Amino acid sequence: MKRLALLTSGGDAPGMNAAIRAVVRTAIYHGLEVFGIPQGYAGLIQGNFKEMTRGSVADIIHRGGTILLTARSEEFMQKEGRERAYRNLREKDIGGLVVIGGDGSFRGAQALYEEYGLPVVGVPGTIDNDIGCTEYTIGFDTAMNTVLLAINNIRDTATSHERTFVIETMGRHAGILTLMTGLAGGAETILIPEVPFDLQKICQKLKKGYDRGKLHSIILVAEGICIDEQCGLGSQDPKESMAFLIGQEIKKRTGFETRIIILGHLQRGGSPSAMDRILASRFGAKAVDLLLEEKGGLMVGYRNAEITTSPIHLALNEEREIDKSLISLAHILSL
Ligand code: ADP
Repeated sequence: MKRLALLTSGGDAPGMNAAIRAVVRTAIYHGLEVFGIPQGYAGLIQGNFKEMTRGSVADIIHRGGTILLTARSEEFMQKEGRERAYRNLREKDIGGLVVIGGDGSFRGAQALYEEYGLPVVGVPGTIDNDIGCTEYTIGFDTAMNTVLLAINNIRDTATSHERTFVIETMGRHAGILTLMTGLAGGAETILIPEVPFDLQKICQKLKKGYDRGKLHSIILVAEGICIDEQCGLGSQDPKESMAFLIGQEIKKRTGFETRIIILGHLQRGGSPSAMDRILASRFGAKAVDLLLEEKGGLMVGYRNAEITTSPIHLALNEEREIDKSLISLAHILSL
């Protein structure tokens, strides 16, 4: 292999730039030519290849987002779209592809690998940390610290005004970001998609806290929690955010002043943490090593303090278990 290409796809995550830098510079170190593909699979279908040099990734290690831009491509979901993408790679004589992204991007990478035998290596980059076969994805650590900063700031006001704050975090299917930041931020209640909840119990806990002189409460809610009969809110398909629904109901049941904060895209940006930069640098370099060995259909990961390699299809099928003992711990520590 003399040429490789790389792209970032799906949701951006802090540390993607550090991964791009690692891929480009490791490849050049080994005498390869490297091409960046702007706008993910959409750019690949358009045949948009940009030659990268050591200089083109200078001064990006500390920047959030992705210099290659990212996109979602409906066309790539279709066989014809992938056919065009593969043809462009072949015409450019690209022998391997690095895909930096989340599980959707990995499904696309796996399709290219299975259909055309193209060596593709995935680098997990998503603040959701919801990919199998790795304990961490690039961007998760930074996002945790961003949410934590927000909780700290909100806590000052919550204490001063003796208020309950309901803070909504990202996590449509995975609650690990909410769980970890709730634990680190001392939240009284943490609601995540994987674990059912009972609003009555939450209100009782709030009242008990206030009775013993607690001045404020922080309730952390992942955006994808399920509202159903079991949680005491009745089954509904909410038009409002989950935090709004929960906050409104708490106010109604307890009479406490409740404020709602939706952190939204604030959580995706920012300069990557040291951990994310280190992880991204190691992942990027490992991805190039695998392609140099002519391996494909693989994802790099991090387990037990080591950089690991796993088949993408395994990573996509592995259930990420939430450690429920951490929920109990957060509960005990906030009583
Ligand atoms: P993320 O990688 O952050 O999970 P998405 O789920 O939006 O983001 O996926 C990014 C892109 O990956 C999609 O726009 C699409 O082009 C491609 N993709 C997702 N799922 C598949 C699939 N099953 N087959 C082929 N391509 C896919």
